[in-house]
Amino acid sequence: MTITTIIDNPEWLLMLLAPLFIALMLAEYWLGQRGGRLPDNSAYHWPEVVCNFTLAGMHQLADLVTGLLIVQLYLWLFGWRWFEIEMSIGNFLLLLVLQDFCYYWFHRASHRVRWMWAAHVTHHSSERMNFSTAFRQSLMYPIAGMWLFWVPLVIIGFEPKWVVFAVLLNLGLQFFVHTQWIRSLGWLEWVFNTPSHHRVHHGHNPQYIDKNYAGVLIIWDKLFATFEPEVEPVRYGVTKPVNSFNPLVVTFSEWQRLLLDLRAKGLTWPQRLRLLFAPPRD
Ligand SMILES: [Zn+2]
Ligand SMILES: [Zn+2]
Repeated sequence: MTITTIIDNPEWLLMLLAPLFIALMLAEYWLGQRGGRLPDNSAYHWPEVVCNFTLAGMHQLADLVTGLLIVQLYLWLFGWRWFEIEMSIGNFLLLLVLQDFCYYWFHRASHRVRWMWAAHVTHHSSERMNFSTAFRQSLMYPIAGMWLFWVPLVIIGFEPKWVVFAVLLNLGLQFFVHTQWIRSLGWLEWVFNTPSHHRVHHGHNPQYIDKNYAGVLIIWDKLFATFEPEVEPVRYGVTKPVNSFNPLVVTFSEWQRLLLDLRAKGLTWPQRLRLLFAPPRD
């Protein structure tokens, strides 16, 4: 398999990384649960692990189905591109940095816009943190509008298949920050999103809420004043726990709450619209 094969079939990237994901989860399980060397809230609680894997499967399926439509839209928009960009190593690195910048804004919007939070809350509703938490994803991301955030890259002139590859590579790399195994990565903490920075992102301690939105580079949080270092032990999860390991409940409970709020008596249509775009209630 060559790099060209992966670029032409970017969805293979996550499958190629799968053996590494599994090996690391097994190692973390042995070290934590068998060796007792990790905190209790890093435990592999089997109903939750099964839920996390099911959510990953549902997310992949939704991405495969909607991905076909989204790529068609990208190809159409690519017809209006501003620049002709030849894919060299320099331009590939530029694409990775720009995509990571767009990811920061996608992720920030996912926390600050109720409509997008309804999808993203799935990733945050676990009260544990281990590598399997990375698999908690929502099948509703295409509805929430994740694909919109990569449109500027296509308009600039990056070929859609490279953009999709950059998106999946970014998501794949984020697997490695979902762990309590690594305390600190030294000087890398200054530049990159690390397990320590991402643990903060999953915390509901008041000072940790809506902080560290980074995908790969933590510099965006430092530039846009959303950075918070890990000081106090992190309490994982959201302020209103979902209390379920049923993947359907985990996926749709916030959508259900949003719908109830929208149907409240006495609301005007402009108020309803504002509610969709306002920050989440908790
Ligand atoms: Zn988040
Ligand atoms: Zn995460």
